[in-house]
Amino acid sequence: MKIIDGKAISMAIREEIAAEVAEMKEKPGLAVVIVGDDPASKVYVRNKHKACEDTGIYSEVHELPADTSQEKLLSLIDKLNADEKINGILVQLPLPKGLSEDEVIARIDPKKDVDAFSASNVGHIMLGDPVFLPCTPAGVMELLKRSGIEVKGKNCVVVGRSNIVGKPMAMLLLKADGTVTICHSKTRNLAEITAKADILVVAIGRAKFITADMVSEGAVVIDVGMNRDENNKLCGDVDFASVSEKASYITPVPGGVGPMTITMLLKNTITAFRLQRGELQ
Ligand code: NDP
Repeated sequence: MKIIDGKAISMAIREEIAAEVAEMKEKPGLAVVIVGDDPASKVYVRNKHKACEDTGIYSEVHELPADTSQEKLLSLIDKLNADEKINGILVQLPLPKGLSEDEVIARIDPKKDVDAFSASNVGHIMLGDPVFLPCTPAGVMELLKRSGIEVKGKNCVVVGRSNIVGKPMAMLLLKADGTVTICHSKTRNLAEITAKADILVVAIGRAKFITADMVSEGAVVIDVGMNRDENNKLCGDVDFASVSEKASYITPVPGGVGPMTITMLLKNTITAFRLQRGELQ
């Protein structure tokens, strides 16, 4: 069994990104908007800002109070849409109750939508012709690629069908010629389906839910989940201790998929910069 070291792979890609940015006369810029003071969101935003600093990407963080009105938030998005030094805009989700995430996402210029959450970018992903790659699923694909794992023709099972992870994950595996099954909370006989997977990607948000009996010998297991276990320790959706005995490759939590998400965001920010300068189609 091999543990896929997401931290090391992520560092290697960030070095490539830093080298690419160093060559650029003008630097790509990312604006991150956070509303309210959710502690997990604050950590994510801080990490994104630091990752930009480390790779030479310009970044600014806009912190708004929890009682910010929809109009005020939308007018900030308008301002950032028009700001030439900002190539990518990311609104940290979830937003406080009372604010419409759909409306905010729809307001971001699709050319600056580096999270790839807007209907237009989701449409491109669905068409198999993505402009921006969805960050977490793209991170998973990069982990597979850099670990030498071929997707073509493999049975790929994705557990979870969220718009952020499960659905776009399935699309990227399909684009890579995998045979894809998507499972969710209403799936019958889940264990039978997961046990047929050559590549199993789990994104459900339930601590250690996938156990060894649900996985076939030699499967590649990618754990997107981020949960706290009974001892308040960070853990994934996969029971690492037992599943790692059967898997050929497995990602740990922490240190697997997690570090890749921000790395893919940096890549999208560079793509946005090049797109806005007409360097890409
Ligand atoms: P959501 O809550 O949006 O979606 C969870 C999905 O899992 C739903 O489709 C749900 O099915 C399905 N599900 C829930 N319980 C079961 C079950 N018992 N059996 C089968 N399917 C089930 O979560 P996200 O996709 O946003 O996130 C999933 C996990 O990934 C979380 O732990 C999150 O923290 C983590 N995450 C990690 C990231 C990273 O960078 N590493 C980035 C984003 C998320 P249904 O649709 O039927 O309700």
